[in-house]
Amino acid sequence: MKITKVKTHPLFAPIREPYWTAQESSNGVRAIITEIETDQGITGYSKIQGTPQEDICSFIEQFIELIKGWDPLETTTIWEYLFSLACPRPRAPYQEDGLPDPLPRSARPQLTAAIAAIDIALWDIKGKEAGMPVWKILGGSKSPILSYSTGGYYREGREMLSVIDEFSGFVAKGYKAVKCKMGFETMEDDLERIAAVRNVIGPNVQLMLDMNACYDLRTCIEFGKRVAENNITWIEEPLHWYLQPRDYKKLATSIPIKLAHGEREMTRFTIRDFVDSGGVTFVQFDSTRHSGLTEILRVAQICEQYGVYIVPHHAAELHAHVVSAFPSASFMLETHGDPERDPIWHYLFRERADVVDSYVHLNDLPGLGIEFDWAFAKSIAA
Ligand SMILES: [Mg+2]
Repeated sequence: MKITKVKTHPLFAPIREPYWTAQESSNGVRAIITEIETDQGITGYSKIQGTPQEDICSFIEQFIELIKGWDPLETTTIWEYLFSLACPRPRAPYQEDGLPDPLPRSARPQLTAAIAAIDIALWDIKGKEAGMPVWKILGGSKSPILSYSTGGYYREGREMLSVIDEFSGFVAKGYKAVKCKMGFETMEDDLERIAAVRNVIGPNVQLMLDMNACYDLRTCIEFGKRVAENNITWIEEPLHWYLQPRDYKKLATSIPIKLAHGEREMTRFTIRDFVDSGGVTFVQFDSTRHSGLTEILRVAQICEQYGVYIVPHHAAELHAHVVSAFPSASFMLETHGDPERDPIWHYLFRERADVVDSYVHLNDLPGLGIEFDWAFAKSIAA
């Protein structure tokens, strides 16, 4: 089989009420669908995140020119080749090897997003060629996987405690675990808010907090000690963006709550150091932001060996395949119980892994088990 052609579809689904996390605002959800065609009539699909979308789509198209004619089943070989384009080569500017110049360091997020788009679509082809779902190729099973719903986004003009209705809604939908955004208000406000959420969801629903990197180390130690009485399963991205594994380790040993991190990491190498430091118990690598399925499988192997959990960020329709294949490191998957927060998850697919009563259920379709609603995709073309 040979790779012949690629098409990219950047999407933007606006939302009615723009929201804030602790660090950024959003007025909608973005995604890029990539289709990779082959000479055997099999087409692979992926859905990834990332911006600027034009830059990522341009990388995807350039990279497919480089691997046109290659066997799409050689996923690791193709991954290594594309990833090598980010590194210097001897005499690279003379282009004696016919390759493009090494990609500038500012392009790394877009480069790893483009690799993700290609790699995930190639795994879809692999499953379709084998006539098997990817979870089965990886040795996983179809056992349902626990999922949590994320909420508590900050919306202008809403009362701080309006989250109470939102979280009681998640519990009414059957969710057994929920995650609340933190860090937009003062620490006192957040403590009040989280006590109200714990009160409304009751003692038996797991509760996680997403800090979106809002604290320095000293302030986060104070927050962690004060919030712990609410029985918190993890605090996520607790520390400012520049703080490192050593700081996570210090935090983890200073508070009685476990830490989650990883959605902004681009490769397994930085994940390894966060895990090896002993600071992080829940690893939230997002293969649709960076580096694809091939890389998250390597991340999951690190988690398994260190006795920590792989809890991928977003994209449950894809990440369920990975978690299914690592039962001893699996814990939960993230979904959004509110269609207004993630219309792409709720409306883009005709077929995908589904959430019923807080559990993600994989399907038996070959490949990634996804089919898009192209009319919806067209309606949100960016
Ligand atoms: Mg997060």
